[in-house]
Amino acid sequence: MMIIDNIHRVQQQIADACARTGRDPQDVTLIAVSKTHPAEMVLAAVSAGLQHFGENRVEESESKIPVVNAKTAQPLVWHMIGHIQSRKAREVVPLFNVVHSVDTLKLASRLASFSAEQGRTLDVLLEVNVSGEAAKHGFAAAGWEDNADLRQPLFQEFARILHLPGLRVRGLMTMAPIVDQMEQVRPVFRSLRRLRDALQTELGQPLPELSMGMTDDFPVAIEEGATFVRVGRAIFGDRE
Ligand SMILES: *Cc1c(COP(=O)(O)O)cnc(C)c1O
Repeated sequence: MMIIDNIHRVQQQIADACARTGRDPQDVTLIAVSKTHPAEMVLAAVSAGLQHFGENRVEESESKIPVVNAKTAQPLVWHMIGHIQSRKAREVVPLFNVVHSVDTLKLASRLASFSAEQGRTLDVLLEVNVSGEAAKHGFAAAGWEDNADLRQPLFQEFARILHLPGLRVRGLMTMAPIVDQMEQVRPVFRSLRRLRDALQTELGQPLPELSMGMTDDFPVAIEEGATFVRVGRAIFGDRE
């Protein structure tokens, strides 16, 4: 398996999905999800031209990210896409450029104070559970369109996070359920985009980024407005 061929295939699929919906491929950033894979594989993807990488565990990132960064002259952009325990928030800030998995006000507050402490402004996305699956992390938002009792406190919580110093909220992230047909997840992605649109209007702040789509569903996510796609297996092959 050649990583470079895989990357070219994924990039072509991104271009095709953009062409189908009249989007500019420049507006979609491919994040190569390198979790479980060694530094050498990340460096192979860097040689193939990729700059954005996603990891989901703090411990693994602490041992991998500095090694990769030291071995390339390219400035890489590291995305934290996995669940973060509050007590790990301090370690996350210096390792990552963007955190996609902010799923509670408590975590947001901790990331905000640690990044302020380190003299930084951290780019974050708010992870939202729009599918309603019990096992998924994220702010509960299934059925938000028709449920004002859910929407009001949710929007209030988001407003509080948007006002935290030390964080810059760039948009929303979601994980779709595992399904047989890619098409079945379209409503999930559409719901996240509509929620983003509603939040922008309600809170009066631009939220340009939508992080949605993985190996099995990224073309549909792009058709529904994804600006970040998080692709692991289609680039690096199956994980152990
Ligand atoms: C592992 C992971 C991905 C990538 O999944 P693939 O199916 O390998 O493309 C994307 N997003 C998150 C949050 C992940 O944990």
